[in-house]
Amino acid sequence: MSDIFIGIDVGGTNFRLGVVQDLRVIWEKRFPADFSGVCRRQSAAEALETITATLNDAVSEARAAYPVIRAIGIGFPGFIAPSTKHVISSPNLPHLSNADIVTPLERRTGLSVALENDASAAAYGEFVLSPQSNGDLIYLGLGTGVGGGLVLQGKLHGGVHGVAMEIGHLTVERGGRLCGCGNRGCLEQYASTNGVVQTYAELTGKTLSAYDIAQAAQQKENVAISAFERAGEYLAGALAHIAKVVDVSDVVIGGGMSASWSLMQVTFERRLSEDLIPALRGKVKVRLSQAQDQAGIIGAAMLAGRQG
Ligand SMILES: [Zn+2]
Repeated sequence: MSDIFIGIDVGGTNFRLGVVQDLRVIWEKRFPADFSGVCRRQSAAEALETITATLNDAVSEARAAYPVIRAIGIGFPGFIAPSTKHVISSPNLPHLSNADIVTPLERRTGLSVALENDASAAAYGEFVLSPQSNGDLIYLGLGTGVGGGLVLQGKLHGGVHGVAMEIGHLTVERGGRLCGCGNRGCLEQYASTNGVVQTYAELTGKTLSAYDIAQAAQQKENVAISAFERAGEYLAGALAHIAKVVDVSDVVIGGGMSASWSLMQVTFERRLSEDLIPALRGKVKVRLSQAQDQAGIIGAAMLAGRQG
């Protein structure tokens, strides 16, 4: 029988754990977990304890159902130090700096724990789930922020400092909106659900949820349509730069906001074509994830298998 792993996708607002065997999630637990709020309300030490306790409880529940687990993989929203596997910092989980999640969880569970950036884990998941892949893949995760992951020749490229493909923090508007990373004008302030909410608020003076703005756009409300179109343009502009640097033709779009892709697609494709160099036009293949938001879980699990 093939090995069974646990893959965990930690979000700023949602927590998802899957028991993974043969690239399939055979048991899953998901619940809202406001780790962003926890990090704001609690001290760094308390927040770290809350997060590791939540991870441990969920792992215990999974092991009650599947006692023979080989290793645990976690996709975490932050910059991960490649050597120590500490969370260097997290723009969406404030105050968490140089945090060690791996050691306490390994101690409590007795299992080996792999930690990776959440978008990188999803990129790896998309790669292992794509049998047609030629080994190279860019993943763009659109959610409350914008994450990116890069697989080159079958290997995840996380970078020397753990910030490779931090596409959400590419500066797309000099002096623009303030970002959680401390800079201004980052892509994720425009091409994420938060970005769409802000664009809509700037244009109308009204604050609606991204879901409500998407609904309004489907009802042909012009301002709501513009908010999504603008997100698509910014994303394409950033991707065009990345494609010129890494020259990868397979691009997968995932994350919760990809459900609204049809609202962004036209401006995205137009801007991508405009900004790519002629040699690349028509050669960058962009597709939506088919993994039903499980790429992060499966990728984290497979990274655990690689390490364990
Ligand atoms: Zn930023």
